[in-house]
Formats: sequence, C-alpha cells, structure tokens
Amino acid sequence: MTNKTEFAKAMKFIPGGVDSPVRAFGSVGGEPFMVKKGKGAYIYDVEGRKYLDFVQSWGPLIFGHADKDIQKAVCDAAKFGLSFGAPSPLETKLAKLVLDKFPFLDKIRFTSSGTEATMSAIRLARAYSGKDGIIKFAGCYHGHSDSLLVKAGSGATTFGYSSSAGVPEDIAKNTFVAVYNDIQSVKAIVKANDIGTIIIEPIAGNMGLVPAKAEFLSELRKICDEKKIVLIMDEVMSGFRASARGSYDVYGIAGDIVTFGKVIGGGMSVAAFAGKSEIMDLISPLGGVYQAGTLSGNPVAMAAGIASLSKIYAKKNLYKDLNSLAKRFINGLSKAAKKHGIALQTACVGSMFGYFFAEDEVNNYDDALKSDTKRFAKFHREMIKRGVFLAPSQFETGFICEAMSKKDIDFAIKMADEAMANL
Ligand code: PLP
Repeated sequence: MTNKTEFAKAMKFIPGGVDSPVRAFGSVGGEPFMVKKGKGAYIYDVEGRKYLDFVQSWGPLIFGHADKDIQKAVCDAAKFGLSFGAPSPLETKLAKLVLDKFPFLDKIRFTSSGTEATMSAIRLARAYSGKDGIIKFAGCYHGHSDSLLVKAGSGATTFGYSSSAGVPEDIAKNTFVAVYNDIQSVKAIVKANDIGTIIIEPIAGNMGLVPAKAEFLSELRKICDEKKIVLIMDEVMSGFRASARGSYDVYGIAGDIVTFGKVIGGGMSVAAFAGKSEIMDLISPLGGVYQAGTLSGNPVAMAAGIASLSKIYAKKNLYKDLNSLAKRFINGLSKAAKKHGIALQTACVGSMFGYFFAEDEVNNYDDALKSDTKRFAKFHREMIKRGVFLAPSQFETGFICEAMSKKDIDFAIKMADEAMANL
C-alpha cells in the first residue's frame, strides 16, 4: 500500500480524492499523503512515515492525536449507544462547561459542524435584528453556507475563488464585505446600507493568522451597540485555542452571539452557537427560527467535548505552555528566515501560530494576498520531505498541541532552517 496508490483510488470515487478541499495539496503541488493513524504530536501515513503534525485536524486536537482521556470517554459513552435523538444529560453537562466560562452567554445550542453553527447564528441574528443585511470581513471564513461564502478565506482563497460558484446572487447581495482591521470600511457600509448583523473572526485564522487590533474590535463593538447590530464573534477556531475563553481573554470584548467548534468537540463533530436568552429563545421550539440536526448533541460527541474541556480546565498553565511553544517555533522560523535572507512575517496567539512569506506586516486580506505563495509551496514541500506537516496553504493557521515538546519544536526549527536554505 502506498500513498500514491491509495490516493489514486480515492480520486476515483471522491471528487479530488478529499472530503474537504483544504486537504488537497493543490496549492503546494503534489498529492497529500494518506493517513493511517495519529498519536500525540505525530501523524503516520500508510507507508509508515511519521510527520510532526502542526495541522492537528485543523485545530480540534489541542491534546494531540488519540488522547487517552478523550478516547476513553468516547468508548465509555459508545457502550450506551451512539445517538439517541432525544435529550440526554451529557448535552446539559457540556453546555454548562462552556457557558460557565462566559458571563455574557446564557444559552447554547449544539450542532455538528462550524458551518451549521455560523449559518444558524446568522439566521438567528437576522430574526432578532429584523434586517437581512450582514457584514463579513474579506479573508474571514465562516464555513460554507451561502451567505458567508463571499470573499472567504481558507480553502476558498487557497483555490482562488473566494466567492463560490452556485451561490445565488439574490443571497450574496445581502452580504457586504468590509476590510479587516479597518473601521472606516465598516462605517461606510453601515452608513449606506441596512445592516443588522456583523460576523467576524476576532482572531482571524483563515487568511493565515491575523489577530484583530484591539482598538478596531472595540470600535466595532461600539458601532454595533449604537446601531443595534448583532455582533457575532466566530470563535469556531479561536475558542479554547487562543485561550480558554478565546478572544474574550485577549480583548475583553463580548459578542452578542458566539460560535464555537473544533476544540469543544475534542476531535468529534461538535460545534455550537450561544448568546443571551433574549436572543437564543427565538430558536425553535421556543421561537420561530428553525434550526435542527439529527446527530446534534449525540452522546459520543458530547462525551468527547466534556473530556476535552474538563482536561483544559484542569490544566492551569495549558495556554501559557502552548503559547511558549508557539513563540519558540515562530521565533525559530524568523531567525532561520533572517539567516537565509527571506522576508517572513509571523504571529501567534495562544496555541495558534502563523507565518507569511511577505515583505510587510499583514493586517488584512489584501496584505495576506501579497505573500509569495510559490515560495510557501516550496517551503511546504521541503518540510514534508523532512517529516514536518504544516497546513498545505499560505492562508491557514498552525496549531500547537499539548503532546508537543520543546524537542519537537526544535526539530521543526532545524528542518525549517534546512528547508529555507533550499528556497
Ligand atoms: N468558522 C471558522 C472561524 C472556521 O475556522 C471554520 C472552519 O475551519 C468554520 C467556521 C466552519 O467549521 P466546519 O469546518 O466545522 O464546518
């Protein structure tokens, strides 16, 4: 069994051989390796090669692959059944675990994907505000629902069609696109249009890692308060990743609705949206906003989320430790880049890190697009050859997991130094 033969088989039956386009190596060249298993900081392909994994399933695996405690929770829960289609106390337990950390959120509803969470949050915000117009920011990705696939980051940018084919013009026309970290662009749209909702990744991770400026975010909150606009903080990626309370710990700015995903499921399909009762009680069956899911809140997924969050809360220095590894890595990358005369911009927040092959600081999508993607592609290939798996796109974020050690990071830095020598 080789990566090549297995991928060829996949290509025959699955479009592009992948169930999510970011997994393809389209923008970096070549084909993805086919995974056999993951353990801790490492992922193994079907040929038995191992890679230090900075993708970590695109964020969820904060404790690394096949974490023993999460695995046990999943197996224990599975013994009682995989899905009930009726409420179970596990849902309440995970709801409480999330909500207890956020003084400004009263209620939460679980979904199976971040896409569903943001899509439902938008519907809810529209119902609450009574207005169809929404603002999103260029380069932010909020999943693949119609209203939000306009100038989107992540795979949509990687493959060069940031607004998807198949999205009806009638839907897209209600989505206005502002410039990240540029409050004037928001003011101009709000002045000229009837806007009821603004959705933002407060720590943008889908155009590469671009944290919001504190002043920009507080101005955004002010505009929403003044104009009675619902502010949705999309923390599907940054929630429990940047810090236990995501961007709230970094900026102290509350969203009216917050969406979660990735880490809150510990590797299982869990996402959620949460808000004050006044907003959340508009959802069916209490209110007229319809939202549903056959497998939403299933016991196995809830058990994984409970195990993941309980472990997070039990480790006092978790984010400090993860951040020191993230800093160690980007400092190492910067040093290597300097040594080889390569322009590199870096960022990190909590366990998230990013790097752009760009001359100037990156504060928004246009800045990110100035990166040298050819150089990135070569760097990526050189790192894969050396057993380090980075996200196969310039416009993604990297993730540190608890299973990584300083030794792992130093190995990755050494490999990056060698890779950069070949760029
Ligand atoms: N929102 C953000 C900020 C994300 O990063 C993602 C996925 O990467 C989503 C929403 C969509 O989540 P999912 O892929 O679970 O549908």
